[in-house]
Formats: sequence, C-alpha cells, structure tokens
Amino acid sequence: MKQIYLDHAAATPLDAGVLKAMMPYLKKEFGNPSSLYGTARANKDALTRARATIADMLRCQSYEIVFTGSGTEANNLAIFGVARKKGSGHIIVSSIEHESVLKPAQRLLQEGFRVTVLPVQKNGIVDVDTLLDSIADDTILISIMTANNEIGTIQPIQTIGGHLQRINRDRALGQKILFHTDACQALGALLLDVRKLGVDLLAINGSKVYGPKGTGALYAKKGIELEPVIYGGGQEKGLRSGTENVAGIVGLAAAVKKANAIRDTEAKRLTKLRDWAISELEKIDGARATGDRTNRLPNNIHITVEGIEGEEAVLYLDKYRIQASTGSACTTSSLEPSHVLTALGMSAAQAAGSLRFTMGRSTTKKDLEYLLRVLPEIIAKCRRSTRMSKI
Ligand SMILES: *Cc1c(COP(=O)(O)O)cnc(C)c1O
Repeated sequence: MKQIYLDHAAATPLDAGVLKAMMPYLKKEFGNPSSLYGTARANKDALTRARATIADMLRCQSYEIVFTGSGTEANNLAIFGVARKKGSGHIIVSSIEHESVLKPAQRLLQEGFRVTVLPVQKNGIVDVDTLLDSIADDTILISIMTANNEIGTIQPIQTIGGHLQRINRDRALGQKILFHTDACQALGALLLDVRKLGVDLLAINGSKVYGPKGTGALYAKKGIELEPVIYGGGQEKGLRSGTENVAGIVGLAAAVKKANAIRDTEAKRLTKLRDWAISELEKIDGARATGDRTNRLPNNIHITVEGIEGEEAVLYLDKYRIQASTGSACTTSSLEPSHVLTALGMSAAQAAGSLRFTMGRSTTKKDLEYLLRVLPEIIAKCRRSTRMSKI
C-alpha cells in the first residue's frame, strides 16, 4: 500500500541523483582532504567544487561559505560566533525562531548579553516597525528566520535587510548591526540571494532539501569575524575544525543545485495544491488555517481543529497510511505547547489541536484528496475520545 508522506518539513528522502554524486566519496575516495598526495586531492577538489556550487546558488563568494555538521550548527556558529567575538551587547531574535536560534540566545542571556525576543503578529509575521523600535545603541545582532518550519510563514527579510543597511550607514565601524537568517526551510522554496536579502549570515542544511542529514552551511559575509564553536585542526578557516564530511558536503551541494533548478516549477505546483487544500480543510467544522495566506511556504498546510488532540489524530492518520505531524511537534517534549503557536496568541488547548501537512516532490492532488476524504472521520473519532476522557 502506498504511504502518503506529508512531513517534508521534518525530513525529506535522499534524492537519487544526490546519492549518486555522493557514492565515490563514500566508497573509493577516502583520503583526508588535508593530505597532499593525489588521491586525497580528489577530496579537496570535491570540497572546492561543492563550495563553489553553494556560493553560486546563494550569489556569494566561495570563501564566504563555511560547511557545518547541520543547520543547528550553522545557527549556533552564527549566533555564538558573533556574540562571543564582540563580548557584550544586545541581540534580537523573533519569538518563532527554531530552537537552534532560541536556545543559543537564551544561553547568551545567561552569559550577560541583553536579549530581546521579538513578538510576531497574529499571522506569524514580524512587524518591521516593532523590530526597528527594539534596536538599541548596543545592538550587535538580529536573527530572523526566512521561513518558519511549523506554520510556514515567510518573513520580510529583504525589507529588514534594507532598513539595517540604512541604519548601519550611520554607525561607526565595529558598531554595525549584523543580520542573520535561518533559511533551512526556505532553501528550495525561495530564491536566496544574500546580497539582495541584505543579510550578513545565512544558515542552510541538507536534510530539508532531499540531501543528506547532518549537513549544513553558513554564509558569513566577507570581513565578518566569528569566534569558532568547535576548536581543533583548523578546517573551514578555523571556524569549524574536524575532518570534512566530504560525501555529505558533495551531497549538500548536489541537493541545493537540484532544488534550485526545479524551484520555480515546484513552488508553482505546490502553491496551487496548498491553497486548494487549505480552502477544503477549512470547510471541516471547527478547523481553522494557521499563519498567513500568501507569505507562506508553498508546501506548508497548517490547521487547528477544535476538540481534538493533534497527537491522537496523527496516530489515526498513520493507520490510514498518511504521515503527518502535530502542528506543534518541534521539540521532543511534545507535552509543552509549541512556542510558535503560543507566540501567535493561541491557548494551550487550541495549540494541542493543530496538524501540519508539509508536501514535497512526490505529493499529488490524489494524495490530498485521500487526506480530505479520511480526515473528517478521524476528527470525529478524536472528538469522541476527547469527550470520553473528560467524563
Ligand atoms: C530543520 C531546521 C533546523 C535544524 O537543522 P538540522 O540540520 O536538523 O540541525 C534549523 N532551522 C529550521 C528552520 C529548520 O527547519
């Protein structure tokens, strides 16, 4: 029986072409890229090519790319890297950031940095004026994600970047505010031109774009000084020591390249499916769409349903061969309501009834028709058991 996988925001299957590109480095070419002999040089050359490919996609220079072991590590390097180099100051992050941005910010708060966690509007989008108002004389870093992993909202990064460039013109060298964006979910859905966006740092990863898990990269604009998070043999310009994951890096580059090549056609196809599915889902009694209608990732469908527990619905969906996520399953401790949904002003009960369906390259209209056929039945079952548990 066909499985209907609707959890692409959590993980994507490895693309066949990506695996093929990785194979030589998993089998034959095992040399350490730092070694001098010819067989190891193949690995060094592969790294050089992968770096150039990613730089090309992000419209930056090769030396502005640092390979990391994940999106999490890229975000950590950006935030800790900037903050610890500066030593003190004010940091602004949005309240709906991924944990890999929020937790480092919380840690820096403990280390004596000032931290503002910026609220978002009801639609999940940062209000640019509120952001600008929160900037202080000692602000060193702003981190706003390009697109959210739970509710799919896309932030006005280019607008913020433009404002910051204007504000930075009046600031002395060394007092400039750096702008970081976590683009792990946006890669593959949006054109990420770092110059156009006006960002100084940008994090991506492989596992959300049909690449290998445990791969990532940080764009760090020329001239930006970062304190390393990992120390050792000095790989990646000393910013990320450790023998490079050559096969993973080659896979990341291949995945980014393919995602970019099919981005526009996929985005168009998925946007159509998304808008249709959301309007159909909203016809279900007690169901409400979350987030923003248009500033939204093409593949993201997120709803809350009154009177159900998302977890139970997901287990039922699995019995019907549909893999989805509770709209709030961002952390392992799923008993806590999602910080993203709380930031939108939802109550714990509302947040508990949320469901996230994230589409991908294999998703068809037929898959969604099937989902729409079985979901009302599942919701009815969940509501019965919710009522039972209250008696
Ligand atoms: C998945 C994800 C990350 C973390 O990436 P890993 O490679 O799993 O560490 C960070 N930010 C966002 C928005 C993500 O979706």
